[in-house]
Amino acid sequence: MRIARFAGEDDPQFGVIGNDNGVEMIAHLRGDPLYAGIELTGQKTPLADLRLLAPVIPRSKVVCVGRNYAKHAAEMGGDVPTEPLIFLKPNTSVIGPGEPIFYPEQSNDVHFEGELAVVIGRICKDVSVEDANRVILGYTIGNDVTARDLQATDGQWARAKGFDTFCPLGPWIETDFDPTNARVTTTLGRPGTEGGVKQDGHTSDMVFSVPDIIAYVTSFMTLLPGDVILTGTPAGVGPMEVGDEVSVTIDGLGTLTNQVVSLND
Ligand code: MG
Repeated sequence: MRIARFAGEDDPQFGVIGNDNGVEMIAHLRGDPLYAGIELTGQKTPLADLRLLAPVIPRSKVVCVGRNYAKHAAEMGGDVPTEPLIFLKPNTSVIGPGEPIFYPEQSNDVHFEGELAVVIGRICKDVSVEDANRVILGYTIGNDVTARDLQATDGQWARAKGFDTFCPLGPWIETDFDPTNARVTTTLGRPGTEGGVKQDGHTSDMVFSVPDIIAYVTSFMTLLPGDVILTGTPAGVGPMEVGDEVSVTIDGLGTLTNQVVSLND
């Protein structure tokens, strides 16, 4: 099942994406499925007529894993960590598909990091590896946008990773997805062009699996419904310029596209 969040007449609304005679449609839901479950209103709208929003606004945090692919750890000049390397992005950094990534004036080296994102479905603490799947609502795509220069100079990563718009999520949440066997690609180029492939990785190359990460994170912090975990990026990270369009594609999930925009425009 694909759960989307979209701009309604007044407030954001949720829906389930389906196919009606070859046309992709959204069946509207009553309330937020994280809290209200799946209850259809009976109304349907063509997907193409709606503007999708970030499929979830994390209730408390975006938990991120650093250096979770060996080749990316190598390109960053470090070893693979012996325990998951955890940091946070604030929920105020989240934007949806098609929304602009603002290039901050404090940085001259803003990078893309395409990543598989896990959406947590229930409050949880001290979850075992065996039980981890029970706390997952589904999966979406994330871009862990990073000011690489500030990451190096700041020591702490709160600013480098935490600017407003530095966490694109979307385009929807897929509840039926195998996180161990999906290709992750990132392309970068100008709008209207195909873009060059910058990252081409596979989730089977993760150092720590999704259940490993959930068990580790919940050993020290509570996760809330709607919290998101970004599971690390494959090799090939690199800079984006103002005007670039960045697309992260995960097979079985879809494509998340955003354009980099100057704050001064
Ligand atoms: Mg990352």
